[in-house]
Amino acid sequence: MTDARIHPAEAAAAPGDGPRSILILMSRTGGGHLASARALEAEFHAQRQGLTVTIVDVLTDHLSFPFSRLPKGYDGLVNRTPRLWHAMWRATAHRAVARPSAALVRRLSRRKLERLVTATRPDLVVSVHPLVNDLVLPVLARLSPASRYVTVVTDLGGIHPSWLHPKNAAIYLPTERAVEIAAARGLPRTRLHAYGLPIRADFARETADRGATRASFGLAPDLPVVLVMGGGGGIGPMEAIAREAGSALAVASPDAPAAQLAIVCATNRRLKEALEASPFPVPLTALGYIDRMADLMHASDLLVTKAGPGTIAEASVRGLPMLLYGFIPGQEAPNVDHVVDAGAGLFEPKPKRIGAEIAHLMTGGRDRLAAMAAAARSLGRARATRDIVASILAGSAA
Ligand code: UDP
Repeated sequence: MTDARIHPAEAAAAPGDGPRSILILMSRTGGGHLASARALEAEFHAQRQGLTVTIVDVLTDHLSFPFSRLPKGYDGLVNRTPRLWHAMWRATAHRAVARPSAALVRRLSRRKLERLVTATRPDLVVSVHPLVNDLVLPVLARLSPASRYVTVVTDLGGIHPSWLHPKNAAIYLPTERAVEIAAARGLPRTRLHAYGLPIRADFARETADRGATRASFGLAPDLPVVLVMGGGGGIGPMEAIAREAGSALAVASPDAPAAQLAIVCATNRRLKEALEASPFPVPLTALGYIDRMADLMHASDLLVTKAGPGTIAEASVRGLPMLLYGFIPGQEAPNVDHVVDAGAGLFEPKPKRIGAEIAHLMTGGRDRLAAMAAAARSLGRARATRDIVASILAGSAA
C-alpha cells in the first residue's frame, strides 16, 4: 500500500481526462477506515493505470499536537470509557458543536493541513473518515478549488452527520437505508449512492480448500473454527469470551472437541500473552494482526465479534454467521439491528451466555447456523469496492 507519506502529485489532469492524482483521507481510529482505504487504493489501480494514489492519516500526521494524539486515545476511550465516547459522538452530531470545534482544530493545525493540500495537489480527494471532512474541505476549497471531493462512508448503520458534508460532490453509502438518512438530512439524492461498504478485493475471490486454509494459520484442518474478533484493536471482553467458550465446548463435547477457537488479538499484545499463558480445554490459537482476513473468515464456521462495520460487511460476503458481543456506542449500535433483523446473527453481551450459545451452535444447532450463514450471505455486497470506484472515476471524468 501507499504509506501515510505525501508524494508529490504527478502532472495535473487536463479537463475531461479524469483524475491522475488521488488523495485518500483516513485515520487509524479502529481498523476499518484503513482497511477500506487500502481496498479503494487497490481498486483504483486495478481500474485505471498510471494513477498516483496516496493514503494519509489526517488526524495523526496532519494535525498539531495534541489533536494528533486522538487516534492513539481512541481505543482506550471506546474500551474503557464508552459513555464518555458516546457523549462526544452525540455532542458532535450537532452542527453548533461540530462546526466551531472543527474550525478551532483547523486553525491550530493550519500549516500542516495547508501543506497536505499544496504538496499533493490532488485532482480527486476521497474521504473514508467522518472527522476529516470539516478539517480538509475548507482548506481544499481555498488552495485547490478544482479538486473534486467525495466521501465513502465506512459505517454501516450509524451515519454520523459529519459524514454528510454538503460540499461533497458524491457520497457513497453502505445501504439504501443510509441513503434515506442522508436524504432526510437534506443531501440531494442525485449525489447519494448505495453500493455497499468497500472491502478488500480478496473477499470476492474464490478460495482454496478449507482444511489447507486452516492449516496455513496453524489451525487443525478438520475441526470447525469459532473465530473471535474485536476490530483492529482487539477490543472488548475477548479473553472472558474465549475462556467461557472453551469451558462450554469442553462440556458439550467431552469426548472430542466440536470446535477450535481462533482468537484475533490484532494489535492487542496483552490479550495474546494472556491467552498463551494458560492452557485451554479445547484447541485455541491466539493470532496477532492478520492481513489474510478473507482466508481466515473462509476457514471459519462462526464469527464472534463486536459490531464493527468492516468486519460485518466482510463476514456477510463470506456467508459467516455472527454472534455479536458488543458495539461501540454511537456509530456501531445500529449495526446490531442490521445483522439480527436479517437473521444473519445474534446479539449476546454476557461472556457466559456467549460461551453457552457457541457450544449450542457448534453441537446441536448446526441447522440454525446454516440458516444464519445463508442470511449473512444475502447481506453481502461483494462488488461494493468495484462499483464505488467505477462510479467515482465516471463522475470525475465528467
Ligand atoms: N482486521 C484485519 N486484521 C486483524 C484485525 C482486523 O484485517 O487482525 C480488519 C477487519 O478485517 C476489518 C477491520 O480491521 O476490516 C476492522 O474494522 P471494523 O469496522 O470492524 O472495526 P474497527 O476496528 O474499525 O472498530
